[in-house]
This record gives sequence, structure tokens and C-alpha cells, in this order.
Amino acid sequence: MNTTLATVNVKDILKKANLKVTPQRILILEVIKNSGHATIEYIYSEVKKQYPSISIATVYKNIHSLYEKGVLREINPRNDKAFYEIAIHNHAHFICTVCNTIYDIEPCEKTVIKQCFKETPGTISELEFNVYGVCEHCNSK
Ligand SMILES: [Zn+2]
Ligand SMILES: [Zn+2]
Repeated sequence: MNTTLATVNVKDILKKANLKVTPQRILILEVIKNSGHATIEYIYSEVKKQYPSISIATVYKNIHSLYEKGVLREINPRNDKAFYEIAIHNHAHFICTVCNTIYDIEPCEKTVIKQCFKETPGTISELEFNVYGVCEHCNSK
């Protein structure tokens, strides 16, 4: 069975990554899970509702260790701050240049991806790229 974001258990993710399961980390991952893609500022504002004394530095430190363990993936839109998402499955991102919304887009088959590039200095194992455009919502305005 394929794991999807909806069925993912954040405690299991932490255990699998050999990270201590703390209430703060659970909450951080829940916030990211529920929003799909979230900035540190957004995560901080949500976590603060339950832990008013938490500092942004603590949130940042936790996100950084989650990122280093491969639990989170970082998305860097060229005109915006970094966003974080739970690294469940490999996909690319469509970023709207009008509303800055980030959409997940599914890559084509691995074999097709390989054919997209004439030459690579090694075997492609993962894909990480952003495409830019105007989303349908903004297009219809
Ligand atoms: Zn848009
Ligand atoms: Zn995504």
C-alpha cells in the first residue's frame, strides 16, 4: 500500500527517522501535514497557539533537524520564502506567479524523466524542481 499524506502518522515518521517524539515536533508536523506546504513563520504562528512560550528559534531548530533527517523537504520559490512539506512522495511544484500558491504536480514516469535530459553525470534518483505559471484560479479572474 502506498503511503499518502492523509494516512501518514507523524509519530511513526519521527520514530522511523530516529528522532525523539516530542509534543512540539508532533505539532510542527501536524501543521505542515494539514497545510501541505508551510513557511516557518506560518508553522510558528500555529504552534504558538498551543505553546505560547515557544520561540521561533526553537521552531526553526526542530524544522532544521527534521529537514536534515529527510522528514521534510524544502521548496524554494524564487520570489518567496522557503516552504516545508512532509517528504512522502517525490513530486514537482507548480508555483503561481500571481498568488504564490504552490501546487503539487506529479512527474511523468521515471523512464520519461530520463529521456527529458540528454545527458546526466549519474543516475537520477530523485527529482526536485519548480515550474512557474499562472494558476487556473488567477487566470479566470
Ligand atoms: Zn494563482
Ligand atoms: Zn509538494
